[in-house]
Amino acid sequence: MTNKKLQETALVCFSGGQDSTTCLYWALSRFESVQAVSFVYGQKHALEVEVARRIAERAQVPFEVLDLSLLSQLTDNALTNPAMKMDEEQPAGSYPNTFVPGRNMIFLTFAAVLAFQRGIRHLVAGVSQADFSGYPDCRDTFIRSLNVSLNLAMDTSFEIHTPLMRLDKEGVWALSDELGVFDVVRYETLTCYNGIPGEGCGHCPACNLRRHGLERYLSRKKRTE
Ligand code: ZN
Repeated sequence: MTNKKLQETALVCFSGGQDSTTCLYWALSRFESVQAVSFVYGQKHALEVEVARRIAERAQVPFEVLDLSLLSQLTDNALTNPAMKMDEEQPAGSYPNTFVPGRNMIFLTFAAVLAFQRGIRHLVAGVSQADFSGYPDCRDTFIRSLNVSLNLAMDTSFEIHTPLMRLDKEGVWALSDELGVFDVVRYETLTCYNGIPGEGCGHCPACNLRRHGLERYLSRKKRTE
């Protein structure tokens, strides 16, 4: 990318998955300085945080973990409850049981408090409304609304950046390639709901989505070469 970098700092909400890793590198291409924050909330796969830490270290980005385990106390979902079997298909008319109500709202809100403390006004989140499950707090309308609320709450001028908002998974692969980190994203990240890094377990909804996007991207790339 040839864009001139903004002489400011961005704080990336970072989980070590495909989307937020692409966002981390997107931020590094746009901002003079980048920091990352991860959240633990009782996920079954604690490895997620270690993967995130490793990727941040490699990218030489300061990394912080915030404990939001209160979330698993408040909600019952397949990401934090080991006894709950994850929906592999989206149930008709409702969200899959991997939906954690308010999760992105809470993450972004805590990230904003941290950013405020550090004098940072740019926040980056890897949410996408093209996401298959259509989680409501991934939609652009919500993000804009939260942006206004956070500014009012802290009397400041945050800017929430969502570079993946209108991209499907194929588009996210294309962006990581454009940023020169296709292999990092492909082999180092953890997206799988069953906690297996890289290509993952191959059958959970996150793996399916990731793999279909990758196949589409690779076949498009082949056609245009
Ligand atoms: Zn999987």
